[in-house]
Amino acid sequence: MSGDGNRNEVIIVGAGIGGLTLGLALHQAGISCRIFESTAEIRQVGVGINLLPHATRELAALGLEEALASVAITTTDATFFNRFGQLIYQEPLGRAAGYEHPQFSIHRGDLQRVLLDAFRARAGADRVVTDRHCVAVAQDGGGVAVTFAGASGADRVTIRGRVAIACDGINSVVRKQFFPGEGEPRYSGVNMWRGVTRWKPILSGASMVRAGWLSHGKVVIYPIRRSDTCGLQLVNWVAEIETPNYRKRDWNRAGSLDDFIWAFADWHFDWLDVPAFLRAADSVLEFPMVDQDPLPRWSFGRVTLLGDAAHPMVPRGSNGAGQAILDARALATALLAHDDPVAALSAYEQQRLETTARIVLTNRTNPPDAILREVFLRTNDKPFRAVEDVISREELVELSDGYKRIAGYSKAALRS
Ligand SMILES: Cc1cc2nc3c(=O)[nH]c(=O)nc-3n(C[C@H](O)[C@H](O)[C@H](O)COP(=O)(O)OP(=O)(O)OC[C@H]3O[C@@H](n4cnc5c(N)ncnc54)[C@H](O)[C@@H]3O)c2cc1C
Repeated sequence: MSGDGNRNEVIIVGAGIGGLTLGLALHQAGISCRIFESTAEIRQVGVGINLLPHATRELAALGLEEALASVAITTTDATFFNRFGQLIYQEPLGRAAGYEHPQFSIHRGDLQRVLLDAFRARAGADRVVTDRHCVAVAQDGGGVAVTFAGASGADRVTIRGRVAIACDGINSVVRKQFFPGEGEPRYSGVNMWRGVTRWKPILSGASMVRAGWLSHGKVVIYPIRRSDTCGLQLVNWVAEIETPNYRKRDWNRAGSLDDFIWAFADWHFDWLDVPAFLRAADSVLEFPMVDQDPLPRWSFGRVTLLGDAAHPMVPRGSNGAGQAILDARALATALLAHDDPVAALSAYEQQRLETTARIVLTNRTNPPDAILREVFLRTNDKPFRAVEDVISREELVELSDGYKRIAGYSKAALRS
């Protein structure tokens, strides 16, 4: 195989959350790497993301907690309501719940910026190469050769390295190369409209609110930046409604308020006027809620998948970014532990594939918002007199804790 590059280098495809965290973890482990990113410029795209304590623990180990805390909201509680605005359940989160590490609610662009700045400062700015869209990977006994094209599809270059890690997200080119018959991401039947609104603090000012249910309209609302000089926070929201038709996921697709505002028209609560809040959004994006069935394998010799490329999941458990971060740590540890790169990628897969497959499947059936589903079904979508008449506190706690155990952030798991 021909091509440029350093044969001892790890080639990372994609400078998203997983690729940048992997770069930082490899740099910390003393392993040389270079990140190749498709876009010409890494800009602030997307809206809010949550980082749970298992992910913030890894980011703290990379020395990033302070930088993240300065741009994120340290989330204090999860609060669930029915569509009549009645409180179903509230529990503390992160440090407020006694974890050693916080939960952060953060703009995806702010998170990516913190990771990118740290990686460039530590590894060198030339270690991130933009405008390099991966089109194919090849390998032989001596290494990998990854071919990239510029934005126009021209300017092909092939870079050689020791291993290649595909962190190229939900539409991964490398995943498609290994699984050509897999087809497009699987639509969950739920469409999402997302946006941010500048609004005065809601509830604690650091609450993650979930309300309603998917068949009639559900919202998830949480602040992602601190109050500005006018006392307004940047508040992320997602409106989710079961919808038969959808269009392919594009992170930049503009959505229309008229397509979903009807579901929330009478949600005037003492803690928030939901339609007024949604109408005040800066802009609206529209994404279908999609995932993929778990794969039988991720590693093929010297090439493996990481993050959304390996295990895209529906965003109902706040775990997409977190699991990419955990993958990055596991992979860096495996590469440090094994001289043989093929053995390292196989050990990484063994550690992470089944765990993440369980999360993908649980996100479809019993993520934290199963609490909302239970109350919706048991009340037949009617207001209740007292929530205890519908569901016990113990059952609510178990629904929430069951997901934490599966997703790997129960307090017991993080203590070990
Ligand atoms: C633009 C964008 C906006 C997003 N917005 C949100 C959001 O608002 N809320 C949310 O919860 N999640 C969002 N996500 C998804 C979220 O970042 C991921 O689910 C999660 O963080 C897992 O990270 P990842 O690194 O696996 O994938 P991503 O963070 O998606 O990163 C993938 C990276 O690979 C790059 N890439 C793709 N194809 C190639 C290629 N062929 N060659 C080289 N590079 C390539 C992409 O440009 C991107 O930088 C967004 C992702 C993207 C790309």
